[in-house]
Amino acid sequence: MSRLDPHSFFDADQPRTRHLSLDVEVDFAHQVVAGRVTLDLGAPSAGPLDLDTKGLTIAAATTAAGAAVPWALGAEEPIRGRRLRLDLPAGTARVVVAFETSPEAIGLQWLAPQQTAGKRHPFLFTQFQPIHARTMLPCQDTPIVRATYEARVVVPGELTAVMSAAPAEAVASGAPNASGHAGPTEGAGAVEDGRRALRFAMPQPVPSYLIALAVGDLTSRDLSPRSRVWAEPATVGAAAHEFAGIEEMIRAAERMFGPYEWDRYDMLVLPPAFPYGGMENPRMTFLTPTVLAGDRSLVDLVAHEMAHSWTGNLVTNATMDHFWLNEGFTVWAERRILEALHGEEAAALGWAIGQNALDESLARYPAGSPYTVLRTHLEGVDPDDVYSSVPYEKGARFVAVLERAVGRERFDRFMRRYMDRFRFTSITTEEFLAFLESELPGVAARVDADTWLHQPDMPAGAPVFRSKRLEALRSLAERWGAGARPSREEAAGWNANELLFYLQHLPRPLEEASCRWLDAQFRLTPQGNYEVLCEWLAIAAASDYEPAFPRLREVLRTVGRMKYLRPLYGAMGGNPRTRAMARALFAEAAPGYHALSRRVVEGVMARYEGEK
Ligand SMILES: [Zn+2]
Repeated sequence: MSRLDPHSFFDADQPRTRHLSLDVEVDFAHQVVAGRVTLDLGAPSAGPLDLDTKGLTIAAATTAAGAAVPWALGAEEPIRGRRLRLDLPAGTARVVVAFETSPEAIGLQWLAPQQTAGKRHPFLFTQFQPIHARTMLPCQDTPIVRATYEARVVVPGELTAVMSAAPAEAVASGAPNASGHAGPTEGAGAVEDGRRALRFAMPQPVPSYLIALAVGDLTSRDLSPRSRVWAEPATVGAAAHEFAGIEEMIRAAERMFGPYEWDRYDMLVLPPAFPYGGMENPRMTFLTPTVLAGDRSLVDLVAHEMAHSWTGNLVTNATMDHFWLNEGFTVWAERRILEALHGEEAAALGWAIGQNALDESLARYPAGSPYTVLRTHLEGVDPDDVYSSVPYEKGARFVAVLERAVGRERFDRFMRRYMDRFRFTSITTEEFLAFLESELPGVAARVDADTWLHQPDMPAGAPVFRSKRLEALRSLAERWGAGARPSREEAAGWNANELLFYLQHLPRPLEEASCRWLDAQFRLTPQGNYEVLCEWLAIAAASDYEPAFPRLREVLRTVGRMKYLRPLYGAMGGNPRTRAMARALFAEAAPGYHALSRRVVEGVMARYEGEK
């Protein structure tokens, strides 16, 4: 037995899934997905095949020819779930498992109509990273295994489905990239018995966490010949406006990393309950609607998700112990894309704002914590419980240190070779290091890669990204108590990120008069930019500034993005009145939050008690 992934029952001595075929029906009334999955093992096999499941009901297992396959579910484990062991008869190349999901499946979030923009239809979306594909289908739920996939998904006739895949007929016709040929509703979607069957195919091999499905009242707008945005009808216009520049961004990324390998780059704007900013599902990035600022000031997030098309989706972390390979490279790449599009100052601001997130994450863990190490050892640890900015921002700083050590030109050539060497594979930190050593001998030792990768906290001499512009803003903010205020003319020239950076560095709590001045000066409470808005609401909550509370309540009732829930509920922990407000709001809003978001808020509120 060879278990390479601490979060999966995958056994490297057993056959691997090469292709996976899903045939399921989405049942909104019972909040279950039911059907079958066919695992194609690529060659006749025999003996045990261990799959991951969590909360799944298994109905049957057979060979493709219909012969029964003996199966048994193991004991439930809190993190991994239950092992499904199939005992394959000799010569089994394909095995079919019939299953049904649980309404509690953490990988599926079912939204009531009132949680959507249109308020008339329910909505379903999946989020499988890090280890939740097993809550929707039995599979080898580890990034080590990559498979192509196809799917037939039956949904209510008035709804549409999208996946991290192409519509099947586009792939069959050999034109997955043809404009106007990417809508899954075209062709295969005839309504029968009030239901519609949609077919998808994913021709590039992906790990299970990149399988994705969303079902709702969706429509789309073309942005370029290879890109369109999907959203509810009420949101699609704003989304198309926000992402109009997407083709330019794809081209900037291609200039750095080589051709975009996934044919199309489409995006789906979800309802606000989505717990993340974005999820890099290939061909169909999932996005929070909180990026729709109206002025394109938050499209940086799309640069991040798009960069994952290379770092993460093309070259993938082998397990969650190497998550920094996905996120560190992607944050670094995102800032290179920003620099290419908007110049050095914009990239510097990105690094500085990231510094704040990193500092906050480091502060959440005691000094020396194993969770501030880049190459982690998460056996027995739920990756969702230790999700933080560390693999992102510390990882990106390590990549930047490598870039500085050899110079940009050489490093960019290295990155191209790295993508080339490992495309469509899943690798470990150790494999990365061996490749680094073979391509750039001595560099790992020169930058002390060992300390970066294996020691907690930040290495001494880690780069700090500063610019004159940012230092001026920081100093202005930090001199607030001494009466320093920006003049109206000065502040009028700030962009959203500069305002955000300034707000991040203000002391708190602030006096009521200070809050009033800020709110009036920068029109903060009605802000459409959620980064600025939520930073402001955190100041207001920490300062017990009541005029902002109606907006705070509105945000917490609708938005499920963990990045905002954590600081906002945290900021309400400062005094008994806001603590009581937080508890009442959570009781009201929790049923609409994703299970992950609920867990984050519960963790934050548990620390209220500790403070008393
Ligand atoms: Zn990412």
